[in-house]
Amino acid sequence: MRTEPTHQRHSAESALFALYARRTVPRYTSYPTAPHFEKNFPEEIYRNWLAVLPIQEAISLYVHLPFCKQMCWYCGCNMKLIARYQPVRSYIDNLCAEIDLVAAQLPARMKVAHLHFGGGTPTAIHPEDLEKIVGKIEEHFTFTADAERAIETDPRTITNEMIARIGALGFTRASLGVQEFDPTVQAAINRIQPAALVQKTTEKLRAVGVKGINYDLIYGLPQQTEAALCKTVQECLAMKPDRVVLFGYAHVPWMAKNQRMIDEAALPGAEERTIQAHSSAQELIKGGYVPIGIDHFALPGDTLTKAMRAGKLHRNFQGYTDDDARSLIGFGATSIGRTPFGYVQNQSETGAWARAIEAGHLPVSKGLVMSLDDCLRAYVIERIMCDGTIDLEIAGGFFDAEPDWYEHEVEQLEILARDGLIIRKDARITLTPAGTGLARIVASTFDSYLRHDRARHSVAV
Ligand code: SF4
Repeated sequence: MRTEPTHQRHSAESALFALYARRTVPRYTSYPTAPHFEKNFPEEIYRNWLAVLPIQEAISLYVHLPFCKQMCWYCGCNMKLIARYQPVRSYIDNLCAEIDLVAAQLPARMKVAHLHFGGGTPTAIHPEDLEKIVGKIEEHFTFTADAERAIETDPRTITNEMIARIGALGFTRASLGVQEFDPTVQAAINRIQPAALVQKTTEKLRAVGVKGINYDLIYGLPQQTEAALCKTVQECLAMKPDRVVLFGYAHVPWMAKNQRMIDEAALPGAEERTIQAHSSAQELIKGGYVPIGIDHFALPGDTLTKAMRAGKLHRNFQGYTDDDARSLIGFGATSIGRTPFGYVQNQSETGAWARAIEAGHLPVSKGLVMSLDDCLRAYVIERIMCDGTIDLEIAGGFFDAEPDWYEHEVEQLEILARDGLIIRKDARITLTPAGTGLARIVASTFDSYLRHDRARHSVAV
């Protein structure tokens, strides 16, 4: 049998990988994805969904605080810079009113297993306002004994007073935006933040009782190199975060205007991005972290690692999670909620969101009622993203689908198998090691909305 020399085979494989890596596909933090939610979603439907939430099940809560003290050029979030504090204070008053409105719709005082504060920078508000929001939540909900309370922080601007309040309010997890320590990259993204500052913030958070520390890193930033990112990883390893998330920078200046400040000529190309993603992941693995899904890493004893090993990993708007609640209530402008019946998204424009609440309405703007086919595809996509393997016939059986429900996908699956991204055995598909980093591509095979999709997504790697 004639075989190609190994180096030729490897370069053919990496060329193929690079071709797939350049494809733009959703991140699948939900399915259907947010661009496919329907506009003008009736508030009445959401009221009805809330009224029949199963009272025996714990739910999750998400609170969106879209304020920051400084602007990072790479940011893709819905946020406002704090020029005066009064608009922040008004936002928090409306947020508390929204919590009252939602709680009034619920069938009972619900149990909460996960609370997540995201943004923006939740720690940009005054500590007493954080306490006010948590107090409002505790007025209406009961936390389970092992509930997680998580908050996103900015090491540059968090104060000692806020750290003390985070500890006093019982937060169990904090995420720190690290991104990259190289000073040239930090200047190119307008986020100056020395490693010593991150280390100090980590120590202070741990000292007030925050047990879980997450670091967010980004590859593909302007001026970034493989060597600089690997050095950043080494510095992070010394600080022993419990989890690390390694995102690829998504350059979408048509959506995030601040990204126009980034010099496109300084962005690494597709091949360099792939190298950065691969090398930094290897550094983390060598440092003892367990790879979770496409972009998370956790210490072996972390609950995320345990969830993955038990086949109980999930994916939500924050990425991978051990949160298995079927219902998530989102508070704040732009926030997305999920119930067993479908998704809702709040008004993204802060003024429209506030006016709806002041008029006594749930500030819903978009949503989607899940069909049985949506539920099946959501399940398949989540299991591909989390487990890397799924039996399509068994999955179809959970949702009363015909055994050949995926006949339109077979041709695409054959191409993915031929290109070495998956292995097919009867109805089971399994990601290969090369396909694991491209799980979004494989998952997109089952996205029936994508065929008609005009939305622009980020590249797969
Ligand atoms: S990246 Fe974070 S801190 Fe920077 S502007 Fe965006 S939300 Fe604010």
